Amino acid sequence: MAKPESAPAPRRPGAREQTYRRIYPLRVIGMALGGLAIASVLVEQHADPWRWGLMVASCLLWPQLAYVRAWLSANSYATEKRSLLIDSAIAGMWVPLLHFSLLPSVVLVTVTTFDKLSSGMRRLWLASLPGLFGATLLTTLIVRPPVELQSSLLVIACTLPLLVVHTLSSSIGSYRLIRTVSRQNKLLEVLQRTDPQTGLFARDHWQEHANDALQRFHATGQPACLLMIDIDHFKNINDTHGHLAGDEVIAAVGQLIRDSIRAEDSAGRYGGDEFAVLCRNLHASDAAAIAERIRSQLQTLRLAHHPQIRLTSSIGLASAQVEFSSLQAWMKAADTALYAAKERGRNQVAERNLPLALGFPI
Ligand code: GH3
Ligand code: MG
Repeated sequence: MAKPESAPAPRRPGAREQTYRRIYPLRVIGMALGGLAIASVLVEQHADPWRWGLMVASCLLWPQLAYVRAWLSANSYATEKRSLLIDSAIAGMWVPLLHFSLLPSVVLVTVTTFDKLSSGMRRLWLASLPGLFGATLLTTLIVRPPVELQSSLLVIACTLPLLVVHTLSSSIGSYRLIRTVSRQNKLLEVLQRTDPQTGLFARDHWQEHANDALQRFHATGQPACLLMIDIDHFKNINDTHGHLAGDEVIAAVGQLIRDSIRAEDSAGRYGGDEFAVLCRNLHASDAAAIAERIRSQLQTLRLAHHPQIRLTSSIGLASAQVEFSSLQAWMKAADTALYAAKERGRNQVAERNLPLALGFPI
């Protein structure tokens, strides 16, 4: 049966709303292990039934109640946040109920406060402190317990599982987080150095490559060449066929340049309709052949969605020279050559320092 048009699409539960489900098993395990530590003290102190009942209620029943509360709540995230604060108050309440038995008291308070920090919820740990210490104070005033600081071997043995399991699970959580952050940093780096429209290097990153090549030329004499490639009358394409067609041209030209260069060359989007190629370990005559290949292939390029568009390009070539003390000087030489190619009627390669007749005019 067809769905009525007015039926709203089912809302996909977000990660925030699912927080209580993620926390539930951790709370069950944490509270159970906390219950073990508490039980060991209660055994030692021959506790009366109401303290045992409170232990069962807070360590075994409370995790279930917290889950149901969040499940029924219209804002499960806020409810879960409150439950985390209640966790701290429960831990605080147990400190006097354990007669301040030092090891389990310190471990319970530390673990619950650490949990607030590792939840990643902003300032939750700070918000948990009044409840934690308030519960300690209130329970002390009501119960007026004796102080029994020392812990027996039984208590130590029953408190260690909480300490060990909590430390291990926190470490695993931190390890995963660090791996994720490092993966995402690498991805961010790749995105930052890539021009999204063409997949070529972004300008800054390409310039780093070119600068390195110039330094190497000065240090070792290894030749290198720059090509500055500019699409002819690109503005007309935008004006005639629209900006989207222009974008398609930019992407296709980027792809063509990538396919036309060698593995050791670096191609970048220099800005707008201008591209730059660094040809490593290559003399001008060989770089000119690459430039000419790009120029001629661009003439035959046909776009999938706009096959009527015809493209030409002008290319300026400059080989690294001793007098280029900076990348700017080298770039300027390539730019001057590009300008000359435009001046001579476009659709050609021009080389800096050579008579233009030695370029590849059409
Ligand atoms: P010339 O032959 O002298 O190079 O002329 P031209 O029209 O190619 O040069 P001009 O610099 O005047 O125009 C380039 C235009 O490219 C201007 C700008 O609006 C457009 N442009 C720059 N980046 C993009 C882009 O990413 N997509 C599109 N569609 N247009 C762009
Ligand atoms: Mg142009």
